[in-house]
Order: sequence, then C-alpha cells, then structure tokens
Amino acid sequence: MKQTGDLALVKKMNTAIVLDAVLRYAPLSRAQISERTGLNKATVSSLVLDLIDNHLVADLGPGASSGGRKPNLLEFRASSGYAVGIDLGVNYIRGILTDLEGGVVAEHRLTLKAQNVESVIPRLLECIETLRARIPACPYGMVGIGIGVPGLVNESGTILFAPNLSWPEVPLRTIVEERFGVPVTIDNEANAGAQGEQRYGAGRGIANQIYVSVGIGIGTGMILNKELYKGAGGFSGELGHLSIHADGKPCRCGNQGCWELYASENALLEQSAPLGYHDLDALLEAAGRGEPEVLALFERIGEALGVGIANIVNVFNPDVVIIGNEMRRAEAWIEEAVQRTVARRALAHHRGKLQVLFAEQGEKSAVRGAAYYAISAFLGKMKGSGV
Ligand SMILES: [Zn+2]
Repeated sequence: MKQTGDLALVKKMNTAIVLDAVLRYAPLSRAQISERTGLNKATVSSLVLDLIDNHLVADLGPGASSGGRKPNLLEFRASSGYAVGIDLGVNYIRGILTDLEGGVVAEHRLTLKAQNVESVIPRLLECIETLRARIPACPYGMVGIGIGVPGLVNESGTILFAPNLSWPEVPLRTIVEERFGVPVTIDNEANAGAQGEQRYGAGRGIANQIYVSVGIGIGTGMILNKELYKGAGGFSGELGHLSIHADGKPCRCGNQGCWELYASENALLEQSAPLGYHDLDALLEAAGRGEPEVLALFERIGEALGVGIANIVNVFNPDVVIIGNEMRRAEAWIEEAVQRTVARRALAHHRGKLQVLFAEQGEKSAVRGAAYYAISAFLGKMKGSGV
C-alpha cells in the first residue's frame, strides 16, 4: 500500500511539473517538456495524454522543425473553463469573467447606493450570476470565484472588519460557495490588487513588489520573493496605519498621525473641500486647467505619499512600489512629488534599483487579481489531483 501511495504522489508531482511547463513555455513539444523538466519521454507522453483527456492541454499537430520529422506542439487550453473575479468596492461592484489564462472575456459593473450587508450581498450574487450566464460552452464551466473586499478577511473567508462598509462579521465565502457550489477565495482588495499587478500588470516578472492601494484609505499588498505575504493571521499590509506624525491627528484605528490621514483620497477631499471641490473628477479637471491651489494640493498629497513609500522602501527593499486604486488617476499631478520625496528620504542603497510606478491595470488591478485567485486554486487542484 505504501508503494501505491508513493507512486500516486509521484504522479501528482509530475503532472504538476508537466502542466507548469505547458503553462510557461507553450507552444512546445513533448520532447521539449522532457528536456526542460528532466522527466523521461515516456512519462511525459503518458502525463500529456491524461492532460489532453482532461481538456487542459491541446495537441496542435506538427510545428516547425530544423530537420527531420516535425514534432507535435502542445498548448494550454485556456478556454476549457472560466473564472469570475469580483472587486467589491464601497460604492460599486466590478466583476469580470476570465479564461484560465486570466484573459478578460466579459465585464459587469454596478453601482451600490446602500452599503448595508442585506442590500449588498444579493447584488453581489446577482453580479456573479450575470457573469456565469455568459460562460461559453466548455468542459469545466465556472471553475471558481475570487472576491477582493475592502476589509480584513480571515482564513475561512469571513470578513472581520470593513470600516468603510460598516459591516458586522460576514462569512462571505460560505455564503457564495453555498449559492454557486464552486471554490471561492476572499481576500483584501490590496492583496488582490497586488496579485493583479504581479500577474498581469506593472509587477510582471518582478520578485519583490509592494502594491499601495490609495483609495478612501490606504492598504498595501506585499509580494515578497514572488509570493503574497499574508502574515500570521492573514492581516498583513495595514501600512495605511503607519504613523508618519507622532503627534498627528487621531485616527479611527486608535493610533494618531496615520499615513492614510495625509495621503489618501479622503485626505485629498478633506483638504479640497474648503476650495469648493468635493470629488476626484472635479479636482483632476481643475488640475488640468492649471488651478494653482489644486496643483499645490496634489503636490502635498504626492509628498505625503512619498513619505510613507520611503518608509516602505527602507523596510522591505522592494524592486518596485506600485501606486494603485483611485489615486493612480492623479499620476500626472503627483508623480514628480512622490519620486522627489522618495529620492530624498529613502536610504541610498535601497533606492539603487527601486522603481516607483503606477498601476498598469488601472481600475482593474484588484478584479484581475481576484480572478487569478480562482484560476490558481483550480489549476492547483488539477495538478494535485494527478488527473
Ligand atoms: Zn490609523
């Protein structure tokens, strides 16, 4: 029995290795998989056959060859299943449907007028339902759902604390899994945004990436050594509550002088109210017209962002810091101040190869990261099943 168990385990591991090779290097031949992985050709052929039977790999037929018989090339079948990604915002729900490579095939967005849990949950389920209805005929259908939320989430997918939604504890994963019967991943929106940029945006191929989600508050998602760092309880990344003024304004978190009180969209709107501007759109438009008071305000916010980023750079020594969420829209008006402040304040050796960038996926960083969670959970399961 022991031996059978070991063989099954070896097959699972080898299946994962072969599927990874296809995901990373396709189109490629069985012989090339064998070369890249060190598995012998017979093993590769047998595992590839299983993957073809399971609709995850397609045989494209003969490709180009430098001489002799042309080898058949293999490809990952991205359209054999679909994932739903959801970005649950404070006043909107954004949903996307993606194939198994994360390519967006459908989108659905709705505006929330009420934030209470009784009215938001039905609309969230409705958004998922709308996207599910748009899945083309395929072997696996909806493989999973990923949801980014503006709050703290524990390991069982329960939202523990969502200050801007004022929700009680909500077992969101259980609710959504019971309704749709597929695996559901719930994570903080900053973590989801970090994944979105790491997989599809400005952080592609970068090992150490800190994503700073600057919206109503500030949250951060940390990719260290290509892995999302979540901390002991899954609560890492609350860098919006890093104190940047020891005797500063009191924060709702109980601390004072927190970074987000000076550098978030809320901080911007608080300071722009006396000038008669009450939303980011109006401020961006005024900055475009060259209104000096508004330009000075963006400059201050950019500097405040730079102060916090310099602290992050000194702690984590990242390759890249990516500014995302709403404030990324102000790139043209804050970038210079952010870069200048980081250059002046961060330690010299830490700045060596550092890049401070703005989110490439724009408003979709979090929703694409959320869909990625669902895809990666599905592929992880398929690799582990030894198909
Ligand atoms: Zn705070």
